[in-house]
Amino acid sequence: AGPSLKVISTMSVGFDHLALEEIKKRGIRVGYTPDVLTDATAELSVALLLAVCRRLPEAVEQVKNGGWTTWKPLWMCGYGLSDSTVGIIGLGRIGQAVARRLKPFGVKKFLYTGSGPKPESAEEFGAEFVPLMRLAEESDFVVVTCALTPATQGMCNKDFFGRMKKTSVFINTSRGAVVNQEDLYDALAHGQIAAAGLDVTTPEPLPTDHPLLSLRNCVVLPHIGSATYATRTTMAVLAANNLLAGLRGEPMPHELLL
Ligand code: NDP
Repeated sequence: AGPSLKVISTMSVGFDHLALEEIKKRGIRVGYTPDVLTDATAELSVALLLAVCRRLPEAVEQVKNGGWTTWKPLWMCGYGLSDSTVGIIGLGRIGQAVARRLKPFGVKKFLYTGSGPKPESAEEFGAEFVPLMRLAEESDFVVVTCALTPATQGMCNKDFFGRMKKTSVFINTSRGAVVNQEDLYDALAHGQIAAAGLDVTTPEPLPTDHPLLSLRNCVVLPHIGSATYATRTTMAVLAANNLLAGLRGEPMPHELLL
């Protein structure tokens, strides 16, 4: 749009794809869609976590390919949430909504990390603020729900996975670039961690011959966190209203304040 660009409306809560410095310099207003997708994304995060820890895609495949034979006590066993420790990276809107949904599964302890303690947000779950590496060491399940920023880019790397337990499960529904995918591949391939579930990758779409897709202990989804009919409709209406308000010079329903 060149110099005539006045307003950007993104149909997402994430804004890591926007050149914010340049946008600010040009005085362009930005609308985004927080809150309305929190429930759907938290629900998908929980669905992915359960699918990974109870090995659902693998189990479905076994039924189809004849791998399901006589009953064997340890066949297709996974890890459950009862009495577990769940570590949430980024206890924001989605992170809290994930914790709220996981609590009734019998989680024993919630840990979280971020730019600082958030006692009001953490109180509901009795969640403890810990440094990133302690979260890696103590969590049975790590769920990444933070924003992608220069500080979080590549945050889940070799050092991080190296601190995790061999029996722990890693879930990322934030942005692919928070994870160093080569390091994740190594951790999964060498049994450093038990399994991973990713709704987001680098790049998107992930090439169909990507090494991560060859692993039986890695489940990859095509960025469907907010993909319910109701949520996408609400997001679209909000994005349109942000744009119209911006063009009219009125306050936006949800403006990103730069
Ligand atoms: P919020 O702004 O409410 O939460 C973002 C969280 O990121 C905050 O809790 C913040 O913690 C945390 N964070 C920031 N810096 C760090 C850091 N250095 N270490 C750890 N945590 C950090 O956003 P939402 O919960 O609404 O959304 C979160 C992200 O989820 C979005 O930015 C987007 O990328 C992703 N998303 C993915 C979807 C999907 O389809 N998979 C759908 C919707 C969103 P603090 O306050 O302490 O800084």
